[in-house]
Amino acid sequence: MNESYDMIVIGGGPAGYPAAIRAAQLGMKVLCIDGWVNHDGSYSFGGTCLNAGCIPSKALLESSELYHRAQHELAVHGIGVGEVGLDLKKMLDRKQAVSKANSGGVKLLFQANKVTGVFGTGKLLGQGKVGYKSHDGQEQTYSAKHIVVATGSEPVNLAKVAPFDGERIVDSWGALEFAEVPGRLGIIGAGVIGVELGSVWSRLGAKTVILEALPTFLPMVDQQVAKEGLRQLTKQGLDIRLGAKVMGAKSGKDGVTVEFEQGGKTATEVFDKLIVAVGRRPYTKDLGCEVAGVQLDERGFVKVDANYRTSAAGVYAVGDVIGGAMLAHKGIEEGVVLAEQLAGEKSEVNYRTVPAVIYTNPEIAWVGMSEEQAKAAGIEVKTGSSPFAANGRARAIESTAGLVKFISDAKTDRVLGVHMIGPYVSELIGEAVTAMEYGATTADIQLTMHAHPTLSETVHEAALAVDGHAIHSANKRKSGI
Ligand code: NAD
Repeated sequence: MNESYDMIVIGGGPAGYPAAIRAAQLGMKVLCIDGWVNHDGSYSFGGTCLNAGCIPSKALLESSELYHRAQHELAVHGIGVGEVGLDLKKMLDRKQAVSKANSGGVKLLFQANKVTGVFGTGKLLGQGKVGYKSHDGQEQTYSAKHIVVATGSEPVNLAKVAPFDGERIVDSWGALEFAEVPGRLGIIGAGVIGVELGSVWSRLGAKTVILEALPTFLPMVDQQVAKEGLRQLTKQGLDIRLGAKVMGAKSGKDGVTVEFEQGGKTATEVFDKLIVAVGRRPYTKDLGCEVAGVQLDERGFVKVDANYRTSAAGVYAVGDVIGGAMLAHKGIEEGVVLAEQLAGEKSEVNYRTVPAVIYTNPEIAWVGMSEEQAKAAGIEVKTGSSPFAANGRARAIESTAGLVKFISDAKTDRVLGVHMIGPYVSELIGEAVTAMEYGATTADIQLTMHAHPTLSETVHEAALAVDGHAIHSANKRKSGI
């Protein structure tokens, strides 16, 4: 049988499933093929984000944070809880249940929107055809007017330096499933995954060392914010070594010995577990790109134009597999926008307002340019910042670390970027994204009333500080190139 669809989406992660749902909402007959297999052998939609990334890691970040708070912070509130225990199996089971509930939700959304979702692998056959193979070996060929590649990415394996062995040397997925808290934990890479997973296991008791090749911590974040992040994480016990390039790792009976270079010297450390978190690469294995004429760039990303068209007619690609920010919400937007464009609507992604969040404590979030990036682009900026220490709500919730910083164009007053570190900044960044989406100036935020007492007042104060008007904090501001 050669059943035909309006759209076939290969990959049911954060880029693929929204593309499928939006296309179905717009009247298309849609098939979504997803190949995800969980470690327990079950299948689920949602890709890395729901099954092995964003969602399970946030579940563990929450659990480990509560464990840490119960031990170290409740006493300040006058709450005595006796000895705080850890049932790691229960914590991991809860994490699994959270993931399952989310990925099960995608199945329900497919049903509600009349998307046909199937588990198995999809392969591009060219000429508008897709080969489907179910996990039990049944094969089928389908055809479609539009074929969307949304196959995502996979962790980079440092095959020559520290190859994954699934036992001692693991990727970010394996690091969500340690059966016991490692005594000594090593992490290669102080990127987003490194600091988030380092926080989880360090809070649960692992002595954690993060080895980062670059000399700068979080170079993509405004350095005033990044420096505060490094200070706070170090204070919590994370041993973050910058300028430390890992040269090799060897697993043995007593641990994994890691050799690294720092400051021109070679050193070694022995860990019980080693997480390799050095980035992700596009996943196009066995996809049939060559047969279908879908070109990849030199780094393996699927090449697309501004409308997500690949080099093969009728084949499109969205999400991690096309590169750019490897973030679930960027993939979601691309999937939705592509479906709307294919249905003849005018729709586009605004890549200037892609927010980013790191779920450490304090959280780090940003949108738009850092002061360093704006200056490097030759833009004359004015900046203002305000600390959470000057915020009443932050004091009430015992979370005063961090700050909000505005980077604005000195000539037009337009907001170029907002970078923050502090309590719930993952939620506060939404205001900055909306403001920038509407092309707001700093004055627009200054003139916007913010409820009291809320953490959002620090966003207001930082905007006021840009022009020296902050009421509740010292006006920390600068201007120039
Ligand atoms: P990353 O690119 O954020 O960080 C990898 C780090 O590893 C870099 O700082 C790099 O300098 C370092 N590194 C590379 N080789 C090294 C070596 N040999 N020795 C020491 N350091 C080395 O990658 P990641 O943390 O693996 O995350 C992958 C992707 O997933 C990113 O795009 C990230 O944005 C995304 N992600 C996002 C979230 C979130 O939104 N909260 C969470 C997890 C992952």
